[in-house]
Amino acid sequence: MKKFRLRALKTNKYFKVIVYDTVEELRKAANGYDGKADNNISNDDILGICHPFERTTVIVKGQKGRPKRHPNIGILRFAKTHTTTQIVFHETMHAAFWQYRLALPKKDQGKADFGESSGPKEEAFLHLADRLYIKMVRQMYKHKYWK
Ligand SMILES: [Zn+2]
Repeated sequence: MKKFRLRALKTNKYFKVIVYDTVEELRKAANGYDGKADNNISNDDILGICHPFERTTVIVKGQKGRPKRHPNIGILRFAKTHTTTQIVFHETMHAAFWQYRLALPKKDQGKADFGESSGPKEEAFLHLADRLYIKMVRQMYKHKYWK
């Protein structure tokens, strides 16, 4: 298993990336996470996953200070045996949507119009986007722009 951080733009926000040795380990970890988060989701068929979140330290009544937002805004999980460009792109785009949503001021978050979290609208967009991207990658290699 390997772990590293993925950070885009000039911000302290980052995603933790975990690449498991097997797809079974990936699914077990994803199910463990969703179990903890009280989601009734089965991850028994996934090949990668993005778990978006925002952790905030809450200020208890009587304490000084402001709520603190933690820089870790999600976890991207992959399996070493399934790190295709398509899977990596797909999960990375979920991360991009999440970071995009968080960056918008509250009043503008509706403009993202993909719902509050990963959902059917986002899936439909990403299935189009990852297929377009993989076709583009193949063309770039075919025409020798990429080697
Ligand atoms: Zn997806």
